[in-house]
Amino acid sequence: MTAQARIIDGKAVAAALRAEIGQEIAAIKAARGLVPGLHVVLVGDDPASRVYVASKEKLAAEIGMNSAAHRLPAETSEAELLAKIAALNADEAIDGILVQLPLPKHIDTGRIIDAIDPAKDVDGLHPINAGRLAGGKSGLVPCTPLGSMLLLKGALPSLSGLEAVVVGRSELVGRPLAQLLLQADCTVTIAHSRTRDLPAVCRRADILVAAVGRPNMIKGDWIKPGATVIDVGINRLPDGKLTGDVDFTEATTVAGAITPVPGGVGPMTIACLLRNTLSAFHVRRG
Ligand code: NAP
Repeated sequence: MTAQARIIDGKAVAAALRAEIGQEIAAIKAARGLVPGLHVVLVGDDPASRVYVASKEKLAAEIGMNSAAHRLPAETSEAELLAKIAALNADEAIDGILVQLPLPKHIDTGRIIDAIDPAKDVDGLHPINAGRLAGGKSGLVPCTPLGSMLLLKGALPSLSGLEAVVVGRSELVGRPLAQLLLQADCTVTIAHSRTRDLPAVCRRADILVAAVGRPNMIKGDWIKPGATVIDVGINRLPDGKLTGDVDFTEATTVAGAITPVPGGVGPMTIACLLRNTLSAFHVRRG
């Protein structure tokens, strides 16, 4: 009989993390009468973004965090969005600001992210936070990489010295996750669309992270037996079902542990957004 990989239950880990954050918020409220505040800005009516924003609002409210969503029309100008961000930056009761991406094409995303107060940048995308991460210093870290690291730390006794391969080099996922793995003393390879012999590179990995956006691209025979596989990919198939970047059926016969899609990294992303908001509260308000 073929061995089956352990399934890393991101849904359960995320629920436990949210409950822990909720308890801390209740304690802060009781002791100081303060509540951390998260504000999300959505421009336009992209259906997936609307679902994400509604879910962020709901989960923040569930754990007792103050939260608000600012839903702006698709024709909002860059200047209007910058003015909205300036107002949120200036509001002392707001600890976290998240601008839901992607933005409409007429808005320069970089200019918007640069305008967010780095102390409130709970998505961890501001160049100051990205620079701090690259320098191995503390700061706000992008939520999906942070959630992936929490899953890895729960799944493995130690990460030190392990060979980690991250497939994907985006600013949002691949690059920051590679930095976090390096901080955890892994030997890190970042692979991308120009990597030669990707299957051979993947086969070196004790920790294999897929953050590409191509359904079932990573096959079972690309995986080192016993490896821990983190599938960040979320791809919608023509039948409406969600699937990851890793061929889950094949991978479970080779890997030691693997995250499913859905129910793996996805739920950790929002839990880490709430965690980042709480961290921002502590740094800003002591
Ligand atoms: P992205 O910005 O499109 O980056 C994709 C990366 O994959 C790029 O670095 C690209 O390489 C690389 N790539 C593309 N084709 C490849 C190939 N054939 N072989 C090797 N590498 C290849 O995407 P992203 O924002 O990082 O997101 C990646 C996936 O994660 C998507 O499915 C997204 O939906 C999902 N995601 C999930 C969450 C979550 O909460 N679970 C959060 C964010 C994103 P080049 O740089 O060379 O083009």
